Amino acid sequence: MSSSTLLQDFPDTFAGQVLRPGDDQYAAARTIFNTHTSGATPTVIAQAANEDDVVTVARYAADTGTPIAIRAGGHGVDGTAMPNDALVVDLSLLKTIAVDPDAGVVRLGAGVLLHEMDAALADYGLVVPSGTVSTTGIAGLTLGGGIGYHMRKYGATVDNLRSCTLVTTDGRRLRTSETENPDLFWALRGGGGNFGIVTELEFLARPLSPYVAAGFMPFPLEQAHEVLAGLREYMPTAPRELAVVAALTRCPPLPPIPPEFHDADVVMPVVVYTGAAEQAERVIGDLASLGTPIVSAVGPMPWIEANRLLDAIAPPGRRYYSKGGYLSELTDAAIDVVVTRAAAAPPAASPPLPSTVQNLWALGGAISEDFEENSVAFSREATQWLWEIVTEWDDPADDAVYHEWLDGTLAGIKPHLRSNGYVNLSTDQGPAWRRGVWGSPAKYARLVEAKTTWDPHNLLRYNKNIPPKNG
Ligand SMILES: Cc1cc2nc3c(=O)[nH]c(=O)nc-3n(C[C@H](O)[C@H](O)[C@H](O)COP(=O)(O)OP(=O)(O)OC[C@H]3O[C@@H](n4cnc5c(N)ncnc54)[C@H](O)[C@@H]3O)c2cc1C
Repeated sequence: MSSSTLLQDFPDTFAGQVLRPGDDQYAAARTIFNTHTSGATPTVIAQAANEDDVVTVARYAADTGTPIAIRAGGHGVDGTAMPNDALVVDLSLLKTIAVDPDAGVVRLGAGVLLHEMDAALADYGLVVPSGTVSTTGIAGLTLGGGIGYHMRKYGATVDNLRSCTLVTTDGRRLRTSETENPDLFWALRGGGGNFGIVTELEFLARPLSPYVAAGFMPFPLEQAHEVLAGLREYMPTAPRELAVVAALTRCPPLPPIPPEFHDADVVMPVVVYTGAAEQAERVIGDLASLGTPIVSAVGPMPWIEANRLLDAIAPPGRRYYSKGGYLSELTDAAIDVVVTRAAAAPPAASPPLPSTVQNLWALGGAISEDFEENSVAFSREATQWLWEIVTEWDDPADDAVYHEWLDGTLAGIKPHLRSNGYVNLSTDQGPAWRRGVWGSPAKYARLVEAKTTWDPHNLLRYNKNIPPKNG
């Protein structure tokens, strides 16, 4: 029997909506961030109203041998949240947010988005280190690792995860933490959606600095070598409260940037500083002195606004393609590749909104120094810089243009990349990549063990898949 035939028996005890092609709300429900994958037609989208519904889906899937796709925030660029012909469990309505300010802990339902979490915590002067585009889901982001503007101060999102509640692929509810099912907890912290359906995540909430300065500092691309070499020297001794993502792109139409520079080739550090107000001017001045910026549009703003700065250049509903990896070092040779390929980027599909960007994320500080490589499945070993390349456009006829530029750039930078990397900031690069992306062979073997224990039939296969033994 095909999986779509089996799905006719989907249990009527499911309390939430069960949507099939042709149903009124199906089109909206299957829409995810990246329209590149939106031709896919899942057979059933089961919108869980509560955790019992997730148990119902998991038991049905186990009884019928049906693979399950998981949708949380819907930002996964691979589109694994909404695959063709699949049974999808949609967690986006699980929106619980419970803050315990005295304990410094927050519990979040798997459907919570970053801006919802940030807003709830900011009221208490708290923050969970997470990502940089506010419409991303906390569940998918955390299960891959989670990097953003607080990582140099507090570590990756997984480093701040205290426990998860999940439903196993045979339909059991479990809690997992350092003391409860610790091997599963280890694997979940980076191994993505391979092991169970996470319904709730509990985090350590950290103090949010009362002072935040943020913004952009674009330099003409001709200065990229000196600016990037300067950042390479500066970041290892910079305060942990300073986050920098250096974007090589066409200058976006952001309000503080004069219109004559929109769509110009730039290297544009995106800067967020969450340290002492008295130090801000010096730190921002240090960055500006790396070259002659077109404008230094970095200034005080509420955290909530700072963590939405990039929303404008990553709108939902476009076609996206991305790859990424860790640089062994930000050498002159690696800088050469990045700058040469930035200069060779195809024009923007809808100028002045950029279509091409290479981001150089400065790691270092807490994420690199305070947590052991083997403490979680997420890998950060022996790197200080993450390179990420993203293309976005609208017309399917342009697919080849942006794919070719991106893949050509990846081929050029590959000799400088490590075999470990960050699963969430790249589309899948195939089985050999997956065997190395979590770090050492011993870590991969431990992930395979966990997969074999918790999902022996690989029902969770719509992901950066770790096949079980004999699976
Ligand atoms: C514009 C944009 C900006 C981004 N910025 C950042 C950033 O700053 N930092 C960063 O670290 N990452 C960033 N990412 C990557 C992001 O972390 C991943 O795309 C992540 O998978 C998104 O999670 P989601 O819940 O929104 O996605 P979904 O598409 O809903 O989920 C992706 C996959 O995660 C797994 N998954 C999700 N929820 C669960 C669950 N509850 N239980 C088990 N498995 C689950 C499933 O395999 C699912 O297919 C960005 C992505 C985009 C598109």
